[in-house]
Amino acid sequence: MILRMSTLFLRTLRDDPVDAEVPSHKLLVRAGYVRRAAPGIYSWLPLGYTVLRNVEKIVREEMDAIGAQEVHFPALLPREPYEATNRWEEYGDNIFRLQDRKGGDYLLGPTHEEMFTLLVKDLYSSYKDLPLSLYQIQTKYRDEARPRAGILRGREFVMKDSYSFDVSDEAFMKSYLAHRGAYIKIFDRLGLEYVIVKATSGAMGGSASEEFLVTAVNGEDTYVRSPGGYAANVEAVTTPVPPPVAYDDVPAAHAEDTPDTPTIETLVDHLNAHFPRDDRRWQAGDTLKNVLVVVRHPDGSREPLAIGLPGDREVDEKRLQAQVEPAVVEPFTEADFAAHPALVRGYIGPGVLGEKNPSGIRYLVDPRVVEGTRWVTGADEPGRHVIDLVAGRDFTPDGTIEAAEVRAGDPAPDGSGPLETARGIEMGHIFQLGRTYAEALGLQVLDENGKLVPVTMGSYGVGVSRAVAAIVENSHDDAGIIWPREVAPADVHLVATGKDDAVFEAADRLAGELDAAGVRVLYDDRRGVSPGVKFKDSELIGVPTIVVVGRGLADGVVEVKDRTTGERENVAVADAASHLA
Ligand code: ATP
Ligand code: MG
Ligand code: MG
Ligand code: MG
Repeated sequence: MILRMSTLFLRTLRDDPVDAEVPSHKLLVRAGYVRRAAPGIYSWLPLGYTVLRNVEKIVREEMDAIGAQEVHFPALLPREPYEATNRWEEYGDNIFRLQDRKGGDYLLGPTHEEMFTLLVKDLYSSYKDLPLSLYQIQTKYRDEARPRAGILRGREFVMKDSYSFDVSDEAFMKSYLAHRGAYIKIFDRLGLEYVIVKATSGAMGGSASEEFLVTAVNGEDTYVRSPGGYAANVEAVTTPVPPPVAYDDVPAAHAEDTPDTPTIETLVDHLNAHFPRDDRRWQAGDTLKNVLVVVRHPDGSREPLAIGLPGDREVDEKRLQAQVEPAVVEPFTEADFAAHPALVRGYIGPGVLGEKNPSGIRYLVDPRVVEGTRWVTGADEPGRHVIDLVAGRDFTPDGTIEAAEVRAGDPAPDGSGPLETARGIEMGHIFQLGRTYAEALGLQVLDENGKLVPVTMGSYGVGVSRAVAAIVENSHDDAGIIWPREVAPADVHLVATGKDDAVFEAADRLAGELDAAGVRVLYDDRRGVSPGVKFKDSELIGVPTIVVVGRGLADGVVEVKDRTTGERENVAVADAASHLA
């Protein structure tokens, strides 16, 4: 392939577009990849469309590799399926709704769970038909409140969405993991720096999900991570603590101080006596780590209770959450935890049982928590706030934190160290949908025993157009874009400089040789354009290798420059094609 800049439909711009704030938006417009048609709506120019298709190709190859089959749905969709799942309402202002000439309601698809569910329902009826994964690469429409950052958040954008259909949860897990693996390959091939985080499922309505976030300062998502590898979108850790409905049932006596109630001061004294720090004395407000507290019950029985994973809450003047017996505060070990499966590993912050401040309770649920686990118990009163935990209400089965808010320094729920926050761009999202859609739309199959069962589903999205911008966010410098080779619009940007016909003849020849060797060439064959302008354009456009045919030709060499490192070397013109192929 040879793209000749003398005829290429391209005008690079010297100035940033006025509405552009982030580098990818500025650079993609300036380098002539996209043009704005309306807010959040962009046209793809030849170079941009090439990059977009390169991204699509990678996505397609990896989806095909896990046996997913490509289909293509319309973007213009009828209201009824979305009515059946309640999303016609739920999406609120975020979807584009329209009417046909007869007054029938339609929408422009923001995502296609309903349509895929119905298609499979149309054609399949037995467990023998499953597993099945289908995907499409499709234009989606969402009337985003704040379309910003160019194609990073469009109102029209390209998404790869796939859907898995399985007869059991075990079978579903295989489909989910296959997708997860494919996503890792896709984002690796796209050259992105990313993290996989626990996420909420939002409008998808499923139970568990993970996001692939590209690490970028301009990301709109904030996530937390720990040194030990825990990572979650803060959206997933800000689920409000369920209101402790039974609070008023707590006898008044426990809303007051009692002489038996250890205060933070008594705990601090105890820590200093039994667990002295190396550097200084414990004080109120310190982080407590892995402390096992034993709670005394009314019947005299003692129950070990883990409190105080790292946290930096101010606990001054607050009563300790659990009414603990200071004498039995002990270090907490994994063995203790194993011996007491009913324990919830947690941090207890300000806002305590006795203070009618339930919203102040912060807790982190260990992944091993089980339904019915008891949380905090008072000295002689079960703490009703969080006793009898209910999966889905008080915690998610995968151990996602449910807390009023999460802050830097909070402990990771898996004990892998203190959390820190960082920003990311959501590039991919994989959802466990369960049977929600199958039930709402009646997708059932006969199982092995001839019984009708709802199908269990997953849904999986990649922001294909967003990826183009995310790559640029990850990979650019002051001069322009630096494309990873596999998505770049060409392999080599060949620049012919000067006025000398011999230069252009040599460059023409080299372009032909490279093309014959399968190298994709963007060839700056423009006459009458200064070398400075050509060099600037080549840096802005961002093809990974730049080859300059110019003055050096007199000595029989061309200059080969690496766009990423800036390194240059002279290569004999006769060897150039084989050198670059
Ligand atoms: P965001 O949190 O950024 O709004 P989302 O959670 O609403 O994204 P999903 O419904 O999970 O998005 O869609 C799957 C993928 O589609 C996202 O991971 C993202 O890569 C992409 N995507 C979503 N909205 C947009 C948009 N407005 N423009 C470009 N890509 C988008
Ligand atoms: Mg969104
Ligand atoms: Mg999101
Ligand atoms: Mg999402």
